[in-house]
Amino acid sequence: DEVPAILDGPPAWDAHALLDDAIAEADDLAGVHVGPYRLVRELGRGGQGRVFLAERDDVGTQVALKLVHGALAAPEVVGRFLTERRVLAGLVHPHIARLLDAGTADLGGLSPTPYLVMEAVEGRSITAHVAETRPPLDERLRLFGQVCEAVAFAHGRLVVHRDLKPSNILVEDGPEGPRVKLLDFGIAKLLSDDAEGLTRTGQSPLTPEYAAPEQVLSGPVTVTTDVYALGVILYEMLAGQVPFDRANSVNILMAHVHEEAPRLSEVAPEARIEPAIEEVVAKAMAKNPDERFESMDAMLVALKRVASANGL
Ligand code: ADP
Ligand code: MG
Repeated sequence: DEVPAILDGPPAWDAHALLDDAIAEADDLAGVHVGPYRLVRELGRGGQGRVFLAERDDVGTQVALKLVHGALAAPEVVGRFLTERRVLAGLVHPHIARLLDAGTADLGGLSPTPYLVMEAVEGRSITAHVAETRPPLDERLRLFGQVCEAVAFAHGRLVVHRDLKPSNILVEDGPEGPRVKLLDFGIAKLLSDDAEGLTRTGQSPLTPEYAAPEQVLSGPVTVTTDVYALGVILYEMLAGQVPFDRANSVNILMAHVHEEAPRLSEVAPEARIEPAIEEVVAKAMAKNPDERFESMDAMLVALKRVASANGL
């Protein structure tokens, strides 16, 4: 029952060129087959490539399929990528979008295109969710707590995310209300030039707004690097703005290294944020990794203490 992909989609030799064509239309790849999947429509684009809603031909289940950008698809990167996917496939947690499959597809280019298949999440970023629904403080902390639990779980399995940011933290409707799903767990690590271990220096992709000082300075990346990004994200969830909002990426990166974040109580006085919560955010965002919470569990304990002391 194998129907050759070439018969019911755009010609495969077109697909590779289109993938790297920045001005290509969003749905230009709809109908193209990637392994056993058929691309349905584009969900989004980012630094790593393009993400599509896709369907498995045989069982019809819908998934999210990320086609990894050509520049990241050097043969040695692809090899490591295929090895490390096993680690990520083991990250089964209610607040982590499951990695279902990974492989390489021949889309007609000079080298095969790596792809990742994940649970498709129907939601929006955690900061968009907060901006649109304006939930009370206890609800913000509940959602943020789910993020922390998922990150703690991964750290327990020696996986550091390294690219925590709102577009990787989606909120979807669950049976018990809004719930968090983390995306791209360890994928930054998987795709970086250096995927060897927890504390190695690596040239991983970085997002200026959420980059820890040691990432800016190409220092060792550890679990406390994720703690820093989560401090920035909690700040943004409480203040409605990132701590370092500057005209360009270089200025943002420099601010993470050299500047103190404006106090939450000054940026968002109307939110009446407890000094104890401000302290948690400040400790997570300490410039020196050794001065941050040493683990996600330590940060969770501090947050729960603050929440219960304030009747939240
Ligand atoms: P980034 O995270 O830098 O925005 P990505 O390449 O990881 O870039 O993803 C691009 C976009 O695709 C994301 O912003 C998100 O909106 C969407 N996306 C990625 N993975 C999924 C998924 N599993 N389910 C639904 N949407 C997704
Ligand atoms: Mg992402």
